[in-house]
Amino acid sequence: MIEGIKENLRRVRCYHSANELEITLQAARDNEMSYMHFLDALLHKELEKRKEQRIMRYKKTANFPLIKTVEEFDFTFQTSITKRQIKEWQQLDWLERRENKIFMGPPGVGKTHLAIALAYTAVLNQYKVKFYTMNELMEDMVFAKEDARFNDFIRKLIKHDLIVIDELGYLPLKPIFANLFFEFVNECYEYRSLIITSNKLFNEWDAVFGNRTLATAILDRLLHHAEPVVIEGDSYRLKNTRKEFDLNAYSNMTKKVEKLVEKEEKVY
Ligand code: ADP
Ligand code: MG
Repeated sequence: MIEGIKENLRRVRCYHSANELEITLQAARDNEMSYMHFLDALLHKELEKRKEQRIMRYKKTANFPLIKTVEEFDFTFQTSITKRQIKEWQQLDWLERRENKIFMGPPGVGKTHLAIALAYTAVLNQYKVKFYTMNELMEDMVFAKEDARFNDFIRKLIKHDLIVIDELGYLPLKPIFANLFFEFVNECYEYRSLIITSNKLFNEWDAVFGNRTLATAILDRLLHHAEPVVIEGDSYRLKNTRKEFDLNAYSNMTKKVEKLVEKEEKVY
């Protein structure tokens, strides 16, 4: 009989219940569970497993260059933003409200780190996320446009609840790119959330898009429901290299002194 039940569970696609059936039955016998508790336990396992697999799938399709977390972020080094603020954003109410986050600032201050950390939190909460660098997005959009499947591309992209666009503004955009980006932002407006990181402040976006009217139209939509954050300070990357540099400089200096001493010893 048990094999028949397992087969039927698989037929209705409850694969985990089928796999867990015997163990759960045994537990029910051992603990004198009621029928209701047994069924509840089996369904619970099915749903938990499905959730786990969904998160794994979303994590893969998000295409993060690497995973960064809020726990790894040193808020004593970067004081433009507080841990409390980021923790609050990890509650994801803004995502439910289809709002955007825009991180602006010089290189190395943690914009991409925070963008990924927030987006990863969204994945762990079963939201569909897509990570793109601006360059990759532009490339994909232009290819899609050339193949006359731009609308299709956008339709698929905005199936995601959250789209991260990293490094907007590193390169000025050709007019065709700027127009496609506007179309994309327009489609997302009040429908999907965006996290954008940029090394340019808003007053420099005219130059990025090469067109003031277009830049204004894009900003208008992005900022209507957005929280722009300017992150300043020293580069975290340089903080580390500076340390290495100093150590190298120190060790080179000591070697030089040693050599000098050696030479002087020879002279005398
Ligand atoms: P940005 O996108 O602003 O150029 P990143 O987020 O790529 O900078 O940060 C550069 C590197 O430094 C990354 O490896 C990131 O994890 C790390 N980093 C930056 N800021 C911090 C911070 N405050 N605490 C811990 N790591 C940081
Ligand atoms: Mg970055």
